[in-house]
Amino acid sequence: MKVRAPSQDGQYFDVQKLIHGLQLHTICEEARCPNISECWGRGTATFQILGETCTRACRYCYVHSGRPDAPPDQLEPLRVAQAAAQMRLKHVVVTSVDRDDVPDRGAGHYAATIRAIKAKLPEAKVEVLTPDFLGVEEQALQTLLAARPDVFNHNIETVRRLHRAMRGGKADYDRALWLLRRAKELADYPVLTKSGIIVGLGERNDEVVETMRDLRAHGVDVVTIGQYLQPSAKHATIDRWVHPDEFRWFREQGEAIGFGSVFSGPLVRSSYRADEQRHAAETGRGAVAY
Ligand code: SF4
Repeated sequence: MKVRAPSQDGQYFDVQKLIHGLQLHTICEEARCPNISECWGRGTATFQILGETCTRACRYCYVHSGRPDAPPDQLEPLRVAQAAAQMRLKHVVVTSVDRDDVPDRGAGHYAATIRAIKAKLPEAKVEVLTPDFLGVEEQALQTLLAARPDVFNHNIETVRRLHRAMRGGKADYDRALWLLRRAKELADYPVLTKSGIIVGLGERNDEVVETMRDLRAHGVDVVTIGQYLQPSAKHATIDRWVHPDEFRWFREQGEAIGFGSVFSGPLVRSSYRADEQRHAAETGRGAVAY
């Protein structure tokens, strides 16, 4: 796999200056995403709200884990909206750390961020990639969906057999599926739902297909599949490098299962070309592999 280094061509350094100047975080940097040169060079980024410290410690994730030392920053939603407006984004992706220390798990902060973006950029689509809102799921979904995100994304991350081992005792495969189905049930508008699978963590290909079937059975419209890259020696080791032909096979399986869009490829991440993923699902253009 080859990725581009940051260059003066494109908008990479403008995005970097803007994000850092507004004291914002992005999952692009926090998770050491391999696509950062490409995405920032195109003038896009995925905002990470609710701080830098995650209250979970998934074995594949590089985001800093621990006890957050501050409540959510009340002005962050406005700064995210300002950055999105300056970047002239037409599709804004917002994710976050898990905040099990906050009573509403951050749902109100998500809603405030969606509203702030829509106020500044009424034409833009807003996609949220949320945590599981452990213990307050129903109320959190109601709060978040009242702000009307266009895409509701919650990553299943891995197959049923590996879910607890990779994500820790608080995470639950069936609850993740429930959250995706419930979001669609609660929305009083046609929200698109989406989820992502990481491969290379020890799963078999038939289990990946089984997970896609589970997602589709819970109404999920868009699925992404990408190769796991070990972010440090402390994280889970890479079990296998999935061949591009296998990614193509996943795409064909996803298509047959009935997803509106399947993005499947070594460097595909949940927010990779998220605008194109949404467009593919909405227009029925179908599956894409990279
Ligand atoms: S794929 Fe997503 S997380 Fe990675 S650089 Fe692009 S926008 Fe950021």
